[in-house]
Amino acid sequence: MEDCLFCKIIKGEIPSSKVYEDDEILAFNDINPAAPIHILVIPKKHITSLAHMEKDDEAIVGRIYGVINKIAEEKGFKDNGYRVIVNCGKDAGQEVMHLHFHILAGAKFGDKIIDTK
Ligand code: AMP
Ligand code: ZN
Repeated sequence: MEDCLFCKIIKGEIPSSKVYEDDEILAFNDINPAAPIHILVIPKKHITSLAHMEKDDEAIVGRIYGVINKIAEEKGFKDNGYRVIVNCGKDAGQEVMHLHFHILAGAKFGDKIIDTK
């Protein structure tokens, strides 16, 4: 999609610090980390938000969770634990309208609510 920040990152028009890439999924470090480790995982297909998912998108969302676990293992935070957040729509404060999964790790969050901003 033309004016989408994350589509521009996928196309390489805007630089990113890549963590993982395959033909369907890209992961990169968040530019404004809310935790010691803050990675964004996105589908390369433009899906506006979780609420805009279509039936055919369910497989890619399932794959994204597999990639999240792979990253957790490779980066060494799988055993200590991590949190995955998806902000959907305006009440959740979604700022970039391209579906993305925040992975937050590297600290003990417990029941603390993390503001991903
Ligand atoms: P959300 O508020 O859930 O839409 O999250 C958007 C996230 O994208 C925020 O955590 C931002 O820090 C992050 N972000 C915005 N621009 C960039 C960028 N150019 N590279 C990496 N992360 C970005
Ligand atoms: Zn997009």
